[in-house]
Amino acid sequence: MTHKLLAYATYRPHYTLPRSVVNAALTGVARGSGERTVAGYDEDAVSMAVAATRRLGAGVRSADQLYFGTATSPLLDKSCSLIVHAASSMHDRAFTLDVTGLRAGFGVLKSASTTGGVAAMADMRTGRPGSAVELEGGDGAAAFLFGEGADAVAEVLGSASVPMEVMDAWRVPGTSHALVGEDRFVDHALGRAVREVVSEVAKATGQTDPPTTSVVSTLNRRLAGALAASIRPDGFTDVQAVHRETTGYCGAADIGLLLADALDAAVAGDTVLAVSAGGGADALLLRALKDGPLAGVGGAGRRRPPGEAIGYYQYLTWRGEIGREPARRPARPSVAPPPSFRDSDWKFGLVGSECLECGKVYLPPQRVCRCGAVDEVRPFPVADLTGTVVAHTTDGVSDSPNPPSLAALVDFGTTGRLLLEVADARPSEITDGTEVEMTFRRTYAVDGVPNYFWKARPKNRSSK
Ligand SMILES: [Zn+2]
Repeated sequence: MTHKLLAYATYRPHYTLPRSVVNAALTGVARGSGERTVAGYDEDAVSMAVAATRRLGAGVRSADQLYFGTATSPLLDKSCSLIVHAASSMHDRAFTLDVTGLRAGFGVLKSASTTGGVAAMADMRTGRPGSAVELEGGDGAAAFLFGEGADAVAEVLGSASVPMEVMDAWRVPGTSHALVGEDRFVDHALGRAVREVVSEVAKATGQTDPPTTSVVSTLNRRLAGALAASIRPDGFTDVQAVHRETTGYCGAADIGLLLADALDAAVAGDTVLAVSAGGGADALLLRALKDGPLAGVGGAGRRRPPGEAIGYYQYLTWRGEIGREPARRPARPSVAPPPSFRDSDWKFGLVGSECLECGKVYLPPQRVCRCGAVDEVRPFPVADLTGTVVAHTTDGVSDSPNPPSLAALVDFGTTGRLLLEVADARPSEITDGTEVEMTFRRTYAVDGVPNYFWKARPKNRSSK
């Protein structure tokens, strides 16, 4: 049984690294076109998955399953899907599952389309400096909500898989650099797998006409383009080309970003074939039930508003490739499990309280109101609200990896205000009156263990 696609969303980080900047730093020649996306120093697969999942809207809260796919989980043993679940304000009886590796993106899509629920996928691609993995990689996230509903975006027609044990991509535990196999061998093996899976999905669905749009997610950009064109030579839009030029291959999240971009450009009735090529090939065929937001814009891929380009040394620092001297400040405290568990709704969900007697809002939540009422409260969710900066400050001596750090007092039009760090902005971009949205971030890590909380960022970043 398959469910319908009710909503989808993507998240691409604010920062980009132009390929010419990498080549200029390494070779002295600024060659190479386009750019890749780069997660901020305070982002990881979990925080980006939260950003995409929350963009799915209110339907997420009643979903019964959450599948989280990534090849760069910030913690092992512990289920990071639980963090995504808590920070997405899903109901407290949902089943959650982590799926790992580059094929995890397709895995969560197929699982959620079968059982209903949320497929969230996020990844960061890190290769050796100057490698194709680094230059052609990208960071990002996508999320899909499957279920029953009259207002569906697309229907799933079917899927097929051709698993193939092949050393095409791997990473040794404890290392950060993704490694890939020899091009010609991998091209040959995956090319065969894709031809077979396209034939299988046609058999499984009875859809013998070529799909209106096909997207192929695989490490090698040239191979991805050739394979997509071979499936539908005359229907090849530039969705995939734009994605590879301005975002890059986003690991486990790549298939989701491509599928979302293809649905954006689709009109009702179009069929979209999403193929994940790696370790064989997997394919999912959908039919759009609605026109996408970019339908009629010439089939163009998602044209992102320009992000902020960073320098290569800044990128290497954020990725931990360069161990720069930290600011001499007192050590941060480790994540304390008891208060983190006790205050989970606040820490992960950013849910305050509102007094039922007098209406006063408390951020963080309080059981006792100054009006005298005790335990007369209801939840007051803030994460989806837009706030206004009423005061701000710049701190040039903090230990931020991206100094100066910014902080803002944010007003939500209620009695409660919040003092928050500001993400994705330079000091000149924050003034009193700036509209901000909430964003779940990795505030710092102690001995590699991340601590998460919410920050504010300019509202106009949200269109990506
Ligand atoms: Zn009160």
